[in-house]
Amino acid sequence: MDCIAAISTANAPAGIGIVRLSGENALDIADRVFSSERSKKPSEMKGYTAALGYAADKSGEKIDDVIALVFTAPKSYTGENVVELSCHGGLFVTRKLLSAVLDAGARLAEAGEFTKRAFLNGKIDLAQAEAVMRLISASGEEAAKTALQGEAGILSTRIARARDRIKDTAAHLAAWADFPEEDIPEVEEDSLEGILQLCIDDLSELLREFEKGRIFADGVDAAIVGKVNAGKSTLMNLLSGRQRSIVTEIPGTTRDVVQESVMIAGIPVRLSDTAGIRETADAVERIGVSASRERMETAELVLAMFDSSRPLDDEDMEIIGALKNKRAIAVVNKTDLPSLLDERVIENGFAHVVHISAREEKGVEELSKTVESVLNTADYDPSNGALYTERQRRDAQTARSSLQEALNALQSRITLDAVTVCVENALAALYSLTGEKVSEEIINEVFEKFCVGK
Ligand code: GDP
Repeated sequence: MDCIAAISTANAPAGIGIVRLSGENALDIADRVFSSERSKKPSEMKGYTAALGYAADKSGEKIDDVIALVFTAPKSYTGENVVELSCHGGLFVTRKLLSAVLDAGARLAEAGEFTKRAFLNGKIDLAQAEAVMRLISASGEEAAKTALQGEAGILSTRIARARDRIKDTAAHLAAWADFPEEDIPEVEEDSLEGILQLCIDDLSELLREFEKGRIFADGVDAAIVGKVNAGKSTLMNLLSGRQRSIVTEIPGTTRDVVQESVMIAGIPVRLSDTAGIRETADAVERIGVSASRERMETAELVLAMFDSSRPLDDEDMEIIGALKNKRAIAVVNKTDLPSLLDERVIENGFAHVVHISAREEKGVEELSKTVESVLNTADYDPSNGALYTERQRRDAQTARSSLQEALNALQSRITLDAVTVCVENALAALYSLTGEKVSEEIINEVFEKFCVGK
């Protein structure tokens, strides 16, 4: 394939910048850019070796000192010849180096093209490619761990296990259907049922974990609601570790919805601090209030704050009423002050109640544990290898429902032909999941989301 090149390091000033080349003639192209007085040319170097030299543009002018790192096919990320040229990390220098490489005959890589080539050359499967992307964009530790396991192929191994079971079954069913007169032992319905059930269970578990993995990877939208001066901004600042919303004692100052991304129990939480939901005559404040109500409606999780130093009032009651059917945690704040609030009302209104003192920074751990349990992420084990893209979920779901149909057909004693069709549909969905048999369209869909240089 033609030689592609891109800057593989971040688009920012850094200690080093790397231009990566991949393709059959990557070594020859590197020869035209890279020179070294003491070392060999890249095309003469062995794989996994490095040389110190310098890079020059097409007019022969030196760009920078450069280290050339050579990987020869098929032992490289893409499976092709790969050269990585590391220069000093200024953006200007790195871009000049890239220009020189393009002038020497390489083509600018498209987004994700290196990883796409790795996939097309059989170095990784589609689920692993997606894991690479997840790893690059992971914002939290759990998400990164999941992605790392995905890259290592744990997910692929799990899928492969289900796929192999189904493949054997499908082959057996097909043989039996095609050559009924031959002496192929008829598939035992009992054992067939067992295998189908096993695969359905496996896929169900993967799908259950998808939801948890998704929470770690994509985060959740949460809102803090509560009357003015309950301590919403204080908690938000405490969680974010930054002075974002202004904390004052004048009621009604937090007029806009302030959003901040914080980490709670390893989960990226996009937390909106709202203006409160009380009725007000002030026009600007009213806009804030309606925004708050909307946030409360759409949030995946609501932290409802109550001020324990004041008795519950109408506004508190309104919040309690509004959150009846929401995933919400009651956060009773200011526990450092004498309590004047009727706890029983809160206990009755919420399944989860946490006591904190935002000012004294107490109770954050308890809050964090509660968030974990409400979102059901406590027992998530990233080393299991989970599904983590919508595409994967779709395929897993198709596979599971096809298997379920097969099982139903089997149990209602419809012909084995019907069972065979369903099993084959399930198999096709699993092949698509790992990318073993997948349409060009899906491949493009996956790699378009990558960044250039990966
Ligand atoms: P908001 O209107 O809900 O955003 O409330 P703020 O975060 O602005 O807090 C209102 C006032 O309550 C400020 O003076 C805070 O310092 C104070 N406050 C917040 N949390 C606590 C707490 O845990 N204990 C005490 N004693 N005061 C607090």
